[in-house]
Amino acid sequence: MPPTSPASLTFLGAAGTVTGSKNLVTVGARRILVDAGMFQGEKKWRVRNWADFEVAPDTIGDIVLTHAHMDHCGYLPALVRQGFDGPVWCTEGTRLLAEIVLRDAGYLAERDAVDAARGGWSRHNPPLPIYTGADVERALPLLTPVEVDADADLGDGVTLRFTRAGHILGSASVTLDTGASSVLFSGDLGRHDHPVLRPLGTPPGAAYVVVESTYGDREHPDPLGMPHEAFADAIRRAVARGGSVLVPAFAVDRVEVVLRALTQLREDGRIPTVPIYVNSPMASAALAVYRRSVSELRPDLDINDFFRISDLVEIHSAEESMALTSGRRRGSSIILTSSGMLNGGRVLHHLERMLPDARNAVVLTGFQAAGTRGRALADGATELKMHGHYVPVRAEIVRDDEFSVHADASDLLDWLRALDPAPATVLVNHGEPEASEALAARIRRELGLTAVVPAHGERVVLPDPGRAED
Ligand SMILES: [Zn+2]
Repeated sequence: MPPTSPASLTFLGAAGTVTGSKNLVTVGARRILVDAGMFQGEKKWRVRNWADFEVAPDTIGDIVLTHAHMDHCGYLPALVRQGFDGPVWCTEGTRLLAEIVLRDAGYLAERDAVDAARGGWSRHNPPLPIYTGADVERALPLLTPVEVDADADLGDGVTLRFTRAGHILGSASVTLDTGASSVLFSGDLGRHDHPVLRPLGTPPGAAYVVVESTYGDREHPDPLGMPHEAFADAIRRAVARGGSVLVPAFAVDRVEVVLRALTQLREDGRIPTVPIYVNSPMASAALAVYRRSVSELRPDLDINDFFRISDLVEIHSAEESMALTSGRRRGSSIILTSSGMLNGGRVLHHLERMLPDARNAVVLTGFQAAGTRGRALADGATELKMHGHYVPVRAEIVRDDEFSVHADASDLLDWLRALDPAPATVLVNHGEPEASEALAARIRRELGLTAVVPAHGERVVLPDPGRAED
């Protein structure tokens, strides 16, 4: 490797938007991609999922994953399909969850292609899936777990170090030391007090720091009074009416956090004891990973209290799922199901049956993107279209915004402030443009650091900061 060629960093996703995280680090002839995320949301970004990748995937030596959310790992099988076959460095928790998330993504991608063929709306004839289940099975063996809080030698003088990020199980920030310089990627950062996971750590400082800005322009409100009171109150009222409570939740991490909250609400006598169901095969699979990853859970969490809610029932078959809200079942219950934004999955048949009955309640537990059924309900829709027909909304709709597992602007500043040494340059990505700009302004003003918001495709040279002085 010629020692004269400086390392560089190129932003190939999550620059100008919150999804599609992909950052290319080049050290001499070595190319390392940090995160391989799928673009989601607006069409102008999603179309990039189908385009050829900007860098020939067979020239990328390594991929590093910060965590197992689709917008950070979902593009990996597409890169494998296009020729990538190197190691994919990640934590053990990320490996376990990525298996679940990517297998589900492969299944959905193939199903979407079939639907497009039937509907005739694909540009391709026949419609092509972005990748297949077979591509996923070729990608999974590439996942190579390494220890958290320890240096891993990637060769060519490059070392990698993961530090816990407290966002979902296995999530980590990653420091790449290239010999001449160092660069730290925050990945998605959790709040300072995740209800289930060990807290986020402080990574070793680096000359260049790439920080996320999902909530770069927002602060989470302090809960007024008792935690999750809106949720508790909705359960009490629905049960008093003889109704049931539907809780759509993201299958990975959110179901665990909701179960933890329900356990505490019960222990504190704030909700009546009614059966609790987890009705999502993906959520059950993720729950099994959380159950056996005890070393990643909060030390003060009693695993028995957390997971053995006395009458917690996991629903597996589609028949059992249908029976849950069939009308033959008597008595109130709480049903956790996916998807979190109500755009597909088992939640739909529960909504069809539960929304028309004013005794029931639906509790929304996460961010509801524009255009989703979840957003429509949050905005007060009086009917909702499902399976081609309209269903009246008479059930009570409640939002519990205390479930966010993303750092807010103050959490992000605290994380940056703790870095030693302080960064020479902070690169703000993974946010809507206003959020990224707002965070960059606060970093300049409150921390006195150089902070910029890179554009998609922008390349930044990472010279040795020592040499840059002279
Ligand atoms: Zn994430």
